[in-house]
Amino acid sequence: VVEAAGVRRSFGDTVVLDGVDVSIDRGEVVALLGASGSGKSTLLRILAGLDEEAGGSVSVPASRAVVFQEHRLLPWKRVADNVALGVRTGDAAQRTADALAEVGLADRGGAWPAELSGGQSQRVAIARALIRRPDLLLLDEPFGALDALNRLKMQALFGRLRAAHGFAALLVTHDVDEAILLADRLLVLDGGRIAETIEVDLDHPRAVDAPGFGALRRRL
Ligand code: ATP
Ligand code: MG
Repeated sequence: VVEAAGVRRSFGDTVVLDGVDVSIDRGEVVALLGASGSGKSTLLRILAGLDEEAGGSVSVPASRAVVFQEHRLLPWKRVADNVALGVRTGDAAQRTADALAEVGLADRGGAWPAELSGGQSQRVAIARALIRRPDLLLLDEPFGALDALNRLKMQALFGRLRAAHGFAALLVTHDVDEAILLADRLLVLDGGRIAETIEVDLDHPRAVDAPGFGALRRRL
């Protein structure tokens, strides 16, 4: 569902992306790793269509949804209205209720964003993405701001949602273990390019213990 080739982006004299190729198959989850400042968010914004200055060719599905590290809920709208924002189909109310139920917040649609915990807010952000029934989810460190327990819960939730919906996803994360747990393939961004591609095969756990992962954990 994603075909990006030769993606380039500079800010002033600083070349951040220097010819990045990414392809993601239908239903595939790809993790994007890399040191801070390596250009992960820049690439995600380009794939989201939020950056008009980028070079290269990018093909992504029209039905895509973005989840940022911070939830970006509108504080003046109730939770349900945040989820339904921009959805104009006749069944918007039902879809909102379904999406909130899927993330375990069936009874919080009438709450204000300020009344939610960080983890709950991030679940609302995911419901807001899901209601669009996206073919592609773009997630920029979606669980990065959560404490360890909430991060685990969200990782489990992500797995369930993926099984139910079959979306493809690009998941930006600093957390190598999270990437191994949730993704089919890991891309490591370094020096403006995809420096490494690692297939995750949980049926062959030795692959997960490969020396490369230890080195990655130390690097990131
Ligand atoms: P982190 O892990 O810290 O989120 P990242 O890999 O997401 O880092 P980016 O946010 O993509 O990194 O930034 C990559 C580089 O591009 C950084 O050096 C950053 O300063 C620069 N950059 C990003 N956006 C802009 C901008 N709008 N103007 C100028 N420089 C920018
Ligand atoms: Mg970033």
